[in-house]
Amino acid sequence: MRLADNEALTAALQQHDSVIALFVCEPSVYNAQDTSAMHVFAWWQALRELQSALRAIGGELYFAKGEVVPVLQHLHEQTPFDAIYSHQETGNALTFERDKNVKRWAESALVQWHEKTQNGVVRGLEDRDLRSDIIQCRLFSTEPVPAPASMRTFTVSCDDIVSTTWHDYASLCSQPVDECIRFNQMQRVGEVDAQRELTHFLDERVSDYSRGISSPNTAFQTGSRLSVHLAWGTISTRTVFYESQLRIGYWQSSASPDAGYWTKNLQAFQSRLHWRDHFTQRLESASYMEHRALNPVFEQMAYEDEHALLQAWVDGKTGIPLIDACMRCLRATGFLNFRMRAMLVTTACFGLRLSWRTVQYPLARVFYDYEPGIHFSQIQMQAGIVGINTMRVYSPHKQLLDQDPNCEFIKRWIPELAEFSSETIANYNHVPLGDYPAPVDDIVVNSADIKAQISKIKKSEEAVEPTAEVLAKHGSRLHATNRRKKKPRPEHQDADSPQMNLPL
Ligand SMILES: Cc1cc2nc3c(=O)[nH]c(=O)nc-3n(C[C@H](O)[C@H](O)[C@H](O)COP(=O)(O)OP(=O)(O)OC[C@H]3O[C@@H](n4cnc5c(N)ncnc54)[C@H](O)[C@@H]3O)c2cc1C
Repeated sequence: MRLADNEALTAALQQHDSVIALFVCEPSVYNAQDTSAMHVFAWWQALRELQSALRAIGGELYFAKGEVVPVLQHLHEQTPFDAIYSHQETGNALTFERDKNVKRWAESALVQWHEKTQNGVVRGLEDRDLRSDIIQCRLFSTEPVPAPASMRTFTVSCDDIVSTTWHDYASLCSQPVDECIRFNQMQRVGEVDAQRELTHFLDERVSDYSRGISSPNTAFQTGSRLSVHLAWGTISTRTVFYESQLRIGYWQSSASPDAGYWTKNLQAFQSRLHWRDHFTQRLESASYMEHRALNPVFEQMAYEDEHALLQAWVDGKTGIPLIDACMRCLRATGFLNFRMRAMLVTTACFGLRLSWRTVQYPLARVFYDYEPGIHFSQIQMQAGIVGINTMRVYSPHKQLLDQDPNCEFIKRWIPELAEFSSETIANYNHVPLGDYPAPVDDIVVNSADIKAQISKIKKSEEAVEPTAEVLAKHGSRLHATNRRKKKPRPEHQDADSPQMNLPL
């Protein structure tokens, strides 16, 4: 969804006389369990901007509604073409199958399909230890490719399948347009906004990065807020690395007394970018993990999966103030910082005894930055079932005291609690809070049960082999500068921690 550093578009223009840009809106994707109207709204915003940008350089964006293979077949019959260019993506199980179908179709129609890489995720990776060199080459040894200055295109006759006019959101998605009203609180998704967010972050906000990203009161300003742009491709990972590296270079050669401070924050930010690809690589190498535990020994976990508890969690009505505030915030803005996301999952999987399978889709639907590789990996990791991390269960009560002691965030998202003092709200386990519900369950008792199950499995004889395999295949490696010590090692689970190792 961008022109800058778009290797697929650049390669197509270099190698062909004329090119069209095509977006296919697939019913199977927008009706999938992990897609929501929020995501379609993000596509719509990004596409509108992309179409203007393409027209400005003499191109056009064609839009089709239908499954990709029949759409390609239809286009090919109307206007034969000989190649397709796209980026290589790590999606969910559904889009993985779709990609295999496209490959089969392309082969049968004698159309070449060129998939360009755009991050540090390596398809068909045989040796995990080679990844850091590949990343070095892809992300650090080459500069981002500039946006093309002009585009030679050809005309496709528009019919009821392919068109260039689809300006309202409703033409993309059959979900109710009214829902858009609440989308006003969400970030704008587009290439211009992505670039603006990046510059603003790197030149100003990054100075408070490490200090601010744990609290939901500050992370909205101190975090980069680039996740949504990286997820929908309005900016490339390489551009973000490149620009942040320029700033690191600047501060490292600066005599300013603040130089070390800025450099440390920029490096902490870059380490998150590495985590992004690290987790996406996990799904790329284990595409089954949307449906099965990465570590098969944890398939035996017994969860209660009580529907009423799931509903209370999804609706932000559990009676646990910080959990409900986070859920309501997500439903309105599509965003939450890492620690609060992790807390939502540990409370669901440990405190409410909901299975990771049960919570992964409802959560994906309210993440405006939904990225399957990060999401499915993080869900299993926070549920404590990967086996290579220290088990960490975030207490919503402790997080309230640490991260929202004045209950500003809670009062913002739970208006029913606005009149109560922060001391009273923090005492929610013991005092009634007007119309606000009492906690739906005893999350401390439930957590003890799930923790005991996990510990027992972890210590069992049958866990040894599969856990060693997971560590060898999916564990993080040390940074390339420490290459001789390159060994898989247990991961720090708290990605807020500035000391975490780089997951190359
Ligand atoms: C259960 C759970 C599910 C998550 N699902 C998603 C998701 O679907 N999409 C998504 O982008 N992030 C996801 N995250 C990771 C993280 O919470 C968000 O990336 C981060 O909060 C986005 O804020 P930011 O852009 O200001 O990030 P910053 O802190 O500024 O980080 C910069 C970028 O690094 C990446 N990143 C940051 N933290 C992580 C991490 N722990 N793991 C992998 N990559 C990271 C993101 O692309 C982010 O934009 C999830 C975390 C948890 C605990």
